[in-house]
Amino acid sequence: MTGTPAGYDVIVLGGGVAGCVLAARLSEDPDRTVCLVEAGPDFGPDRQDWPAKVLNARALPREEVWERHAPAHRIRARVLGGSSCINGCWNTWGSEADHAEWARTGGPRWTAAALEPYRLAAVEQMGLRRVPEREFSPWSRAALAAAAELGFREVDMGTPSGPGYGTPLLNAFDGVRHNAAFAYLDAARARPNLTVLAGAAVDRLDIGDGRVRGVRVDIGGRHETLVADAYLLACGTFGSPAVLMRSGVGPADHLRTVGIRPEIDLPGVGSNLTDQPGVFVPLAPTDELNAALAAKEADGDLYVSRMLVRAAGELCPDDSWDLHILPVAGPPLFGKLPPGRYEAGISAFVMKPTSRGTVRLASADPATAPEIDPGFLTDEGGHDLAVLRSGLEIVERMAATAALKPLAGPVRGHPARDLSDQDLRGRLGTYWHPVGTCAMGAPDDPLAVVDGEARVRGVANLRIVDASVLPTVPAANTQLPVLAVAEMLADLIGGAA
Ligand SMILES: Cc1cc2nc3c(=O)[nH]c(=O)nc-3n(C[C@H](O)[C@H](O)[C@H](O)COP(=O)(O)OP(=O)(O)OC[C@H]3O[C@@H](n4cnc5c(N)ncnc54)[C@H](O)[C@@H]3O)c2cc1C
Repeated sequence: MTGTPAGYDVIVLGGGVAGCVLAARLSEDPDRTVCLVEAGPDFGPDRQDWPAKVLNARALPREEVWERHAPAHRIRARVLGGSSCINGCWNTWGSEADHAEWARTGGPRWTAAALEPYRLAAVEQMGLRRVPEREFSPWSRAALAAAAELGFREVDMGTPSGPGYGTPLLNAFDGVRHNAAFAYLDAARARPNLTVLAGAAVDRLDIGDGRVRGVRVDIGGRHETLVADAYLLACGTFGSPAVLMRSGVGPADHLRTVGIRPEIDLPGVGSNLTDQPGVFVPLAPTDELNAALAAKEADGDLYVSRMLVRAAGELCPDDSWDLHILPVAGPPLFGKLPPGRYEAGISAFVMKPTSRGTVRLASADPATAPEIDPGFLTDEGGHDLAVLRSGLEIVERMAATAALKPLAGPVRGHPARDLSDQDLRGRLGTYWHPVGTCAMGAPDDPLAVVDGEARVRGVANLRIVDASVLPTVPAANTQLPVLAVAEMLADLIGGAA
């Protein structure tokens, strides 16, 4: 065992966005010993020790991930700080309706009003800030004007202020990605009651008599069992259900197919995977736009996008939104273009999909990646496809505005509205906001994995605190919601322990 001979008061499994919040907040009490276990490396508090690509907020890194050459929807970080180290640094908030959905299954502490102090705490601790003037490219400025031209009103994207256009809050300063490890652990690292154990991959929990007895970890090929009074699983939407299933907690039939003896039959584990699909509609930048973007890049302030529109498709309830429309222009997300040439276009993302996917084990071996089926556009009623098509109509109208048209024209080929369902499916991308695979639910919900206090059904001293417990995806980028939920649950757990 690592740590004190008697073990820890709390072990946090997974040092991502939620894990960093938990470790920092729970170790504020000097009488509580906390161990934070993370599979990836810990690059420490000194920015100079971090890989430059991970700190570069002007691009999405492909470093420090679980699988280097996997399809985009599988990308997730493997590093202390989690996916905040590789993400787009955008922070937005969901609608009142999103929180009402959560409160219906988890109780009153999940309403927007009850979460507000925790949202504010997360904004402050992460140092989230508004987009500085110099970071707007001519394209972003034109896109703001285009949204106004279409009749959208300007809104605050950090609150549930309704549909409209605006700018996200950022966790990036002067081009440097500010991740959750910096924000939450820099000060906490000095605490003698906090142990950070990086390079330690969780294999499984040993469960007996309805309690976790210990957690098996692989630390550089050495197998150890760590023990604690309480265990907090924070391995993310793909990692947490995988750890549970390897521990014998999950759909019994599935566990048997991979040779795992079921301890607790919880059919909801690994089901209900919800992510936001979208389509990028490319445009052809004019020479003027290319030149303006090149000048911006030479100044060091070129960001592919600094604004978004919360829009309502035709199926969306009043006063809400079910689409994010993202106009982008800059270096391509994937691949390269010759110097001085850039990619431009507008994406439409389905923010409240009804389709559901799955996370399943391919093997009981923790070194084997789980099977992840995002289930994009698989809902029987065709709701998600219809919302996507509504979004593409808005994209088309936006591209035709007086503000954007002079900067980029249509590319040759079919306009997005004429694409067949099959072609649209072939062009699908993800907004990278997967949630829901260990969903919170009411006591009578057979697919519930945790209750409103994040306690795992049937296991006394185990909770899950990460994106996986959100039963539905908010109409938002998920980092800020996960930070706020982790703040709220840390407060609850700290008080309860
Ligand atoms: C490419 C990309 C871009 C994104 N862009 C944005 C954005 O711009 N804005 C936004 O709001 N959200 C964005 N997100 C989503 C956001 O980052 C996530 O919602 C958030 O990180 C979820 O937090 P989490 O704690 O649930 O999981 P994570 O932050 O992913 O943390 C999980 C942690 O658990 C660790 N772990 C997993 N399995 C094990 C194991 N067996 N043993 C030990 N450790 C383990 C992982 O290594 C990881 O550090 C993006 C995500 C990705 C992947």
